[in-house]
Amino acid sequence: MAEHDATRAIRAGKAAASLPRTVGPPIQKGSTILLPNAASLYDDDGYVTYGRQGLAAQTTLMDALADLEGATGVQLYPSGLAAVTGAMLAVLSAGDEVMVTDTIYRPTARFCATVLKRFGVTTTYFDPRTSPEDLVAGASPAAKLILMESPGSLSFELQDMAAVAALARARGILTACDNTWGAGYLCKPLNLGVDISIQALTKYMGGHSDVFMGSAAARHPALAKALSDGGLHIGWAVSPEDAYAMLRGLRTLPTRLARHGDSGLKVARWLQSHPAVETVLHPALSGDPIYERTFSGPCGLFSIVLKPGPVDAVIDGLKLFGLGFSWGGFESLAVTCDPQLRARKLRRDYGGPMIRLHVGLEDPDDLIADLAQALEAYPA
Ligand SMILES: *Cc1c(COP(=O)(O)O)cnc(C)c1O
Repeated sequence: MAEHDATRAIRAGKAAASLPRTVGPPIQKGSTILLPNAASLYDDDGYVTYGRQGLAAQTTLMDALADLEGATGVQLYPSGLAAVTGAMLAVLSAGDEVMVTDTIYRPTARFCATVLKRFGVTTTYFDPRTSPEDLVAGASPAAKLILMESPGSLSFELQDMAAVAALARARGILTACDNTWGAGYLCKPLNLGVDISIQALTKYMGGHSDVFMGSAAARHPALAKALSDGGLHIGWAVSPEDAYAMLRGLRTLPTRLARHGDSGLKVARWLQSHPAVETVLHPALSGDPIYERTFSGPCGLFSIVLKPGPVDAVIDGLKLFGLGFSWGGFESLAVTCDPQLRARKLRRDYGGPMIRLHVGLEDPDDLIADLAQALEAYPA
């Protein structure tokens, strides 16, 4: 007997068991995973039993990121901020202390001051220029994790991640690094001995300013499991479309980064000789030996400190640089930094107003011309 339409509408059109192979993974959408028999329903080791764990696009992305970072496991999160906070929640407990660089991405500090505080984790901030020896020697018995960001947000101070990781390990303290500037490509924190490498994939991996995602990678299997359990317990999931977009970005990441890096250096060198500019804060131009040891090249993000003057007029005068947060996309962007610098715990005088620039994929000569006209009236 033929089934009724209501049943046929439900039963018809099941996907073929084996799909034709495309260059990228299929965008597999599904909460339910159909399992072959009763025993497999509760066999979490033998089967993927629920779609939240990720299907073809997500697992392909996780494998690719693990390969690039030299990790045994990578956890995905729905934003870069969720990656930083998720990695911290995966390893911290009430009573622990986390030591955070003062140049950390601002919303990470906000998380420490609100959520971590409520759950009984204390945060201390350190100057990124502190020597690794002094930093680790100053750790209290409650210190569980040192969170670095090298170069730091906005002001680009470098940290000797390898030295901090080695000294911290000897004292049983975990290390993590927000590696968004290095994009999991220009810098490999796990190779330096850092325990957890975190990045906002939203930036260079996505590359088009239109997808949010983050990742945390670990080499030690127990830590990789802690990250994955942390994601499972909190319930993080990313969509297959977004994972696919990240994989697409990953294919051209090295090509784009080379262009961002070269153009950024060209613009930064031009700015170094401009009379309105006090300093250029660019890791590759800092002369710091840590840069040569740690990075295979620069990306397109750096800051400039201007001589004191009306900085907002410079920003408002830019025509090719967009005004906006985030970076890593194809377009050039500029933001003023001072309101964020004032919110830091250990304030540092940089000698004038600061502007952060993201150099995009435009012709660098056009970007230089844009900066030249915006700086024309600035007091030098
Ligand atoms: C942008 C950024 C983040 C957060 O990423 P989102 O995807 O925007 O949440 C984290 N760390 C650094 C260094 C960033 O620049």
